[in-house]
Amino acid sequence: MIDLPGMAALWDALPQARMVGGAVRDMLAGREVADVDFAVPLSPQEVIARVRAAGLKAVPTGLAHGTVTVVACGRGFEVTSLRRDVATDGRHAVVEFTDDWEMDASRRDFTINAMSATRDGAVFDYFGGREDLAAGRVRFVGEAGRRIAEDYLRILRFFRFFARYGRGAPDAQAVAAIVALREGVRSLSAERVWSEVKQILRADDPRAVVALMRETGVLELVLPQADEARLAGMVARGAPVDELLRVAALLRGDAGLFAQRWRLSGAEQVRLAALMVPDALAPDADDAALRRALAEVPGEILIGRSWLGQDDRLGWDDLRARIAAMARPVFPVQGRDVVALGVPPGPGVGEVLDAVRRWWMAGGCVADARACLGRARAALDGDRLRF
Ligand code: ATP
Ligand code: MG
Repeated sequence: MIDLPGMAALWDALPQARMVGGAVRDMLAGREVADVDFAVPLSPQEVIARVRAAGLKAVPTGLAHGTVTVVACGRGFEVTSLRRDVATDGRHAVVEFTDDWEMDASRRDFTINAMSATRDGAVFDYFGGREDLAAGRVRFVGEAGRRIAEDYLRILRFFRFFARYGRGAPDAQAVAAIVALREGVRSLSAERVWSEVKQILRADDPRAVVALMRETGVLELVLPQADEARLAGMVARGAPVDELLRVAALLRGDAGLFAQRWRLSGAEQVRLAALMVPDALAPDADDAALRRALAEVPGEILIGRSWLGQDDRLGWDDLRARIAAMARPVFPVQGRDVVALGVPPGPGVGEVLDAVRRWWMAGGCVADARACLGRARAALDGDRLRF
């Protein structure tokens, strides 16, 4: 049974609450559970009143959906009132609160995500989730086509959970429904799609799920003309789990267009673009070449590029180990050092800095500040900037 700090206090305040969703699934699968969500057959107002009466903090984080965040032992738990659908327009569900646990379970996406568990460890499994989990089956609760039409994000969620828990052939009904309804993915917001794609690509081994996405025509919607073979080769060679590196392996086209289409964050865009620069480093590169590369680009990007550009030559692991062990060279001269040499503040300072930096790089990034400034002084004394 899971026992995170704070759970006992929460259960003292709300004995009728059950753990739901991913926590129950991962507990049964023997996986680590980092995050527990609860459901409760009480209205959000009742939850707030009881939690506060027990001396805990209750924050109404999503009252429209019946969600209250309960803070216990410094940790936040989402507690959601049981609900049932009243009407739906395919994107926004209208909900009503209920005390019917099976109704709540029936609104969840997959049988493995629809279980709940009480404080004493009793598991409620209305749709055969436990058996499906043991067999590696990801199955929709109810009729796949209807559940997808209610929320097209469930297409991508299917791949996310199939990547993590699926074994053997995927559920035929789910696959047929995804093929028929895949165009619905186009109606989803870019942020939701990208968030799911990242989670799909975080699977230990994404090869089978990427193949299934291609077969169902969903891969083409998300990442046109994906280079599946390159991803497969990279995974087979033991590349680390890294969703952006995997996107870089799959992308044949313009990383900028992909980043725009799915609204990657600024940091993600920068990292993806850096990974996709073809790298000239070879396994037999000498230390000076490595230091030069490291002076320009962070080591983790060089290592990522080595996975992407890798060919059949031996020595790549060795190269990566050398990069990882090497300190990043820092150019030891600053503008004020150049001004101290008598160069008037202004654009001339930058020119001198650039020229000295090129000289420093050409020498393998080993010259210290004194050597660099000595070189600058000699150049300034003689023909200006003849380095
Ligand atoms: P993870 O470990 O990846 O977070 P999770 O099961 O916690 O997995 P969440 O996306 O956090 O996944 O959702 C929590 C639970 O809410 C799910 O287990 C599922 O029961 C339900 N759920 C979430 N999104 C949907 C959806 N789009 N349709 C139906 N049920 C959903
Ligand atoms: Mg979760």
